[in-house]
Amino acid sequence: MKKIAVIGAGTMGNGIAHVFAQNGFDVNLIDTQSAALDRALQTIAKNLDRQVAKSIIQAADKETILAKIICFTNLKEGVHDRDLVIEAATENSKIKNAIFAEMDQYTSPTCILASNTSSISITQLAEATQKPANVIGMHFMNPVPVMKLVEIINGKATSSEVTDSIVALTTTIGKIPCVVKDAPGFIANRILMPMINEAILAFEEGISDAATIDQIMKLGMAHPMGPLQLADYIGLDVCKNILEIMEAGFQNSKYKPAALLTKMVEEGKLGIKTGEGFYSYQK
Ligand code: NAD
Repeated sequence: MKKIAVIGAGTMGNGIAHVFAQNGFDVNLIDTQSAALDRALQTIAKNLDRQVAKSIIQAADKETILAKIICFTNLKEGVHDRDLVIEAATENSKIKNAIFAEMDQYTSPTCILASNTSSISITQLAEATQKPANVIGMHFMNPVPVMKLVEIINGKATSSEVTDSIVALTTTIGKIPCVVKDAPGFIANRILMPMINEAILAFEEGISDAATIDQIMKLGMAHPMGPLQLADYIGLDVCKNILEIMEAGFQNSKYKPAALLTKMVEEGKLGIKTGEGFYSYQK
């Protein structure tokens, strides 16, 4: 497996492209928005500079790594000769189902189709394709170049050969695979998102201010980041989407997004990416 495509050049897509290119893979990076592709290349260049400053890579490696990433706005051109395609587009079932149907159509029968979804059923995405045995979840963590975990999700039809080869590949790129079954939110977000939602409810009820809530969880539970700061980092829209998918998937109102979360998303306060969330950020 040497030829990879990544669909979606946002927060996660640029990080996934970065890590594969850094590990010697040829990466086609695909997005419907050419501006997103431009931004992704700028972010990758900036993050490579940071790695040079920290002596993680040599200065001379930067251009070699960037040259391994080719950008496309046309999905067919970007995926047709790939061994693995990783979908990292917007967290929306309709968008992802359409992408899976399209990438299935333009890839070879042996190509593995992975999704970086945070919560959408891998089994359901596989049903949009003619090769469900080749469909698997590869849930990278943010920021991808830094975080070691990749949650690997087996759909109902995923073959054991595909799981084995994705587990091996994850190790090859310096990450640590953890294999789980397909269920709403998998493991990472099933545990994380109710905690974030509960922190928002406590904030909404005026039990404490954001900084104190975060401080309690950092000092008391040894979390590196408090839940409200983490929500800003992930994106409040992403958090709301994941909670709604878990609420629908489990048919359980305990996952219902806090009213304040919904309000902030409606007001465009999405966290770091819009400059305002539970905290304010300088652009
Ligand atoms: P994002 O909004 O930053 O980027 C999504 C990108 O997908 C955008 O550039 C958009 O133009 C592109 N896109 C939308 N429809 C497309 C299509 N049909 N074809 C090609 N590109 C398309 O989102 P993100 O935060 O990078 O999240 C991407 C995925 O990763 C989601 O499934 C999300 O749940 C998951 N994820 C996010 C995080 C996080 O911390 N943000 C962590 C783990 C997993």
